[in-house]
Amino acid sequence: MQEILKNELSIEKSRSDRRGVRFEPVKKHATDYLSAQYLRKGAPRLPELSEFDTVRHFTRLSQQNYSLDAQFYPLGSCTMKYNPKAYDTLSVLPGFAGAHPFAPESAVQGTLELAYNLQELLKQITGLSAFTLQPAAGAHGELTGILTARAYHDAHDGKGRTEVIVPDTAHGTNPATANMAGYRVVNIKSASNGCVDKEALKAALSEKTAVVMLTVPNTVGLFEPDIAEIADMVHQVGALLYMDGANFNALIGLAKPADFGVDIMHLNLHKTFAAPHGGGGPGSGPVGAAKHVAPFLPHPMVACENGRYTLQGDYAQSLGKMKAFYGNMAVVIRGYCYLRQFDAATLKDIAENAILNANYVRACLKGKFNAYFDRNCMHECVLTPPDPHATEVHTSDIAKRLLDYGFYAPTIYFPLIVPEALMVEPTETENKDMLDAFVTAMEKIYEEIQTDPQLVKEAPHNQPVKRIDEVSAARNPNLRW
Ligand SMILES: *Cc1c(COP(=O)(O)O)cnc(C)c1O
Repeated sequence: MQEILKNELSIEKSRSDRRGVRFEPVKKHATDYLSAQYLRKGAPRLPELSEFDTVRHFTRLSQQNYSLDAQFYPLGSCTMKYNPKAYDTLSVLPGFAGAHPFAPESAVQGTLELAYNLQELLKQITGLSAFTLQPAAGAHGELTGILTARAYHDAHDGKGRTEVIVPDTAHGTNPATANMAGYRVVNIKSASNGCVDKEALKAALSEKTAVVMLTVPNTVGLFEPDIAEIADMVHQVGALLYMDGANFNALIGLAKPADFGVDIMHLNLHKTFAAPHGGGGPGSGPVGAAKHVAPFLPHPMVACENGRYTLQGDYAQSLGKMKAFYGNMAVVIRGYCYLRQFDAATLKDIAENAILNANYVRACLKGKFNAYFDRNCMHECVLTPPDPHATEVHTSDIAKRLLDYGFYAPTIYFPLIVPEALMVEPTETENKDMLDAFVTAMEKIYEEIQTDPQLVKEAPHNQPVKRIDEVSAARNPNLRW
């Protein structure tokens, strides 16, 4: 079927004189209104297709699109969990979606109230003193956080602080952010347990350190057991501790970053708080700060005075504005719905289930796909394939073969410190049946690697698109036909 019904572009399917609509003959033509210089030369090259051809074409394409609504999406570090559809409906209620960005505060009290309440909820779950909802993504949150730290240091005689320390288990956006903010990035290697090497940190810390950026849990899915001690070390040299909390579903309800010394952090409302991640949709990366740093966060801030909600834009020490208007409201609304739907005990269940699911997959696959660090992980586990030198089957082959079994591939070759990494994040929303199905597929692939490695190396076999030239696709993207 697939062979015969080629996946042609609609322009290639075009046959002259096929049509979906018939217009009444025109009485007047564009030439009656416009002078020749404004008229297109020649007819536009539009596909000629019947309505029926068109519907079938796009329906077939939509079915080839892998989606979270149809299947399991174990993409590590992305938290591709199922999110209730009700939040989508609520986020586009006309009162929210139709609000004009320049509407006076009195006309958007509901929107401001919701933003204010979300700020308060984020303060509660993190223990921090203030939150801004401006940043439009996780990486944007990081930049906001680092610029907040700079504003803090500038006000504290810290202009000589030119370095940001980033361990090699940090998310790739962390060093990129520090660099973009104009800091020198000091990379430190992890200890053999996958966590921060305190000796290496000690050696890197100095009066030049502005910020230490830690991804918690880190990108190998591990919590820093000595985080409080690390925070003390950072504070002793007058630096600030930044926490990348993009993957907060591992900690929500279990731990408050303020309790272990975090000064600034961001959360990803997409990922943890019920907005889908990926696909290029809008995100939201709220940034929180401890009391001593809070005055330097961007303004305006949503404030509440005598029951009225306002956008306050006159904080003398603020770093200024980070985004036009006030954050990606549709994502903010979903995040608010999520936090209102669950009480504290349920939020804790969410984190525990995220952790349990990752450890279940890790334990089931032990002996076949071993975890790089063989101990309990948080919300994701980083697995490695059977020795690729011996089998000649690499992680990318395994990822392609998983597609044949109907699963989206995990994140691969990341984090960089794990050779041939397969980073699996099952998320808390998957049930045991689905995890078992995934484990079974991985076990089958393990058998194939032993008995018929070529089958795995040539995968995928039943996908509409086989192996693509990924380098050319990235370097020379052909975005039009
Ligand atoms: C996803 C992620 C980010 C970046 O978030 P974006 O919204 O994609 O910019 C940063 N840090 C970690 C740990 C992440 O998982």
